[in-house]
Parts: sequence; C-alpha cells; structure tokens
Amino acid sequence: MVEKSLYVHIPFCTKKCGYCHFFVIKDEEKKHEDFVLTLKKEWRLFPLKNLISVYFGGGTPSLLKPHFFEELLAEINPLPYAEITLEANPERLNREGLIGFKKAGINRLSIGVQSFDNRHLSSLTRTHNARQAIAAVLLAKESGFDNISIDLMFDLPGQTLENWEYSLNQAVELPITHLSIYNLTIEPDTLFYKQKKKTLEGEPEYLDMAVRILEKAGLKRYEISGFAKEGFKAVHNTGYWRGRPFRGIGPSAFSYLEGARFKNICNYKRYKELIESGNAATDFTEKLPRERSKRELFAIHLRLLEGAPLPKGVDISFLERQGLVIKKGGLVQLTPLGLLHYDTVAAEIV
Ligand code: SF4
Repeated sequence: MVEKSLYVHIPFCTKKCGYCHFFVIKDEEKKHEDFVLTLKKEWRLFPLKNLISVYFGGGTPSLLKPHFFEELLAEINPLPYAEITLEANPERLNREGLIGFKKAGINRLSIGVQSFDNRHLSSLTRTHNARQAIAAVLLAKESGFDNISIDLMFDLPGQTLENWEYSLNQAVELPITHLSIYNLTIEPDTLFYKQKKKTLEGEPEYLDMAVRILEKAGLKRYEISGFAKEGFKAVHNTGYWRGRPFRGIGPSAFSYLEGARFKNICNYKRYKELIESGNAATDFTEKLPRERSKRELFAIHLRLLEGAPLPKGVDISFLERQGLVIKKGGLVQLTPLGLLHYDTVAAEIV
C-alpha cells in the first residue's frame, strides 16, 4: 500500500500580515459554503486512496465552522488512523468551535503563535496578542486536543536573544507536543518588502538557544525547523521530507504525484470557474528528469536529522570534506555545521 497525503488550502484571513507571501483572500463568511462545495468538486476530479495525513492549511482554516470539515472528511475518507491537522490562529478560537473541530475528526492543531511578546506580534501585524495565544493553547488542550503544535518566529526586527528566550520559555510551559521555528524572511510582493523592513541576522545564536531550551523540555529536534515530544513528529510534514506522494486542493495548492509537481492557479475567481466547469485548476506542471528528481528528493530528505539513504551515483565527498554531512549507520546526515548551512548543502546536491 502506497501511503499518500492531502493538503487542503483554505485561503481566508481576516487581514493580511505584513510579511505574508501566501495566497490569501479577505475572509467573508458568506463565501465559505460555496468554497467548500468547490473543494469537494475538485477532490472528486481525482480522489486518492490510502491517505495517511490530511492538512488543512491556509490562510486561516479555523475561520470555517466545524461542520465544513466534517463534510470534507466524509468525502475524502482518510485512513482511520490518519493524522488530520487544522491550522488555527489564536484570536477566534473558542471552546465550542474547538470541541466541534475535534468531533469533526481533526486530531491535531497547529496554532500560529509566532511570538509571546506583544511588541513583536504587533510589529508582525498579527491580530492576536500573547495572552490570547496562551489562552488558545490551554483551551485546545481542555477541549480534548492531545496533539498541539505551535509556530514561533525569530530574526524579527528589534528582537533580542532575551526576547527570544522569553518566548521559548513561555512555549515550553504550555501543553504542546510539537513546535516549529522559522526565521522571518522578507519576500517580494509583501508589505514588509515595500516598507524595506529589515530582519535580524543572528541565526546561529538563536537556533542554539532554541535547541537548548526545547530539548531540555523534551521537544527533540528531528527536522531543521521541527521539534517534537516522543511519538509526536508531524506525519504530514515528515512525508514531504521523505518524498511521500501528496495532492493539494484549493487555490495555489501544490501536488507531487508520480514524479511530477503541479501547482494550482493563484486566482480565486478563476480557480472556482475552472473547477465548476469540471476542469483541473492547474497553473503549471513540471516533470523533473529522473536524475534531478533523485537529487532533489535526497536533498529534501536530508532535512530530517535521522538522515537519508545516499542514492546511487550522487557524490557527496566534497560536502563531507567541508564537514557539512557525515555517513552514519548507512545514512547521510547533516552535521551541526550542515544544519546551519542547509541551503548551501541542498544547492550543491541539486
Ligand atoms: S495569518 Fe498566516 S496566512 Fe493569514 S495573512 Fe497572516 S501569515 Fe498570511
């Protein structure tokens, strides 16, 4: 049985954050029902079996009412033990909604906290504050979620190591099983790019501090950005790193199936028109030559700290000489230096 994954892109957000480079549209509740119908139609064009994970990402999927997820999951029919994740933002989560999400079949929440420092949340133009973030995680736990992930960001304008330490210490006080950390990057087509905002570039110290505090609290680093308690590595994301086939539905969603990559169109109106008329909403398809595909999959797999099997014909001796990777137990792993310079390692391999 070949296990597969599904990503469902729900593009609604109440307000676009200044650093956001995702495909997002202004939330209007009246659009939800129609959008969910379109998602179902898209799914029926090409349904997959043996889904080991379903990830509702966005956007802010938690803006939709729980019954929509119940309907979608009934249609999608994942494996009974599949990981079903919902991305949520703290500001609108309430007990009734959380209990509803749980009943609908969601068994993992990924809450976009980003920081526990109100100054940084406001400079990131987020719509929640630290108190709401803490309350959301506690409420999720009380409502029956045993698998809760949060995201934190570093290299924020004006951030100091002390601020970062504060956020990390606050995070480990909460009943979380998983944490992802990201450094702020400023992409073209974002408000921050137009405003010429600058990030910090203190990555090594910030990462060292995160590893020290999180691992002490039992959240072990298993991927470049991912930390998990024992038994709680993200099934969905681990699939991306290991090259598991996945389908994406919704505007701007990516798919990777049978060695080819597809991307859906980034235009809400056009996306709906195409699906409503019975067509796929694919914007581009890329079938990689076998050699390149093998190298890309290997480079992506290296993100996992456990390492990746070395494919035939790929020479890594120059990376070994530079101390960026090592061979261990039949696998190739990033060294501590390689973890800091993953982008260089990946570029050299591909
Ligand atoms: S909440 Fe997330 S998806 Fe929505 S605008 Fe902010 S960063 Fe983008």
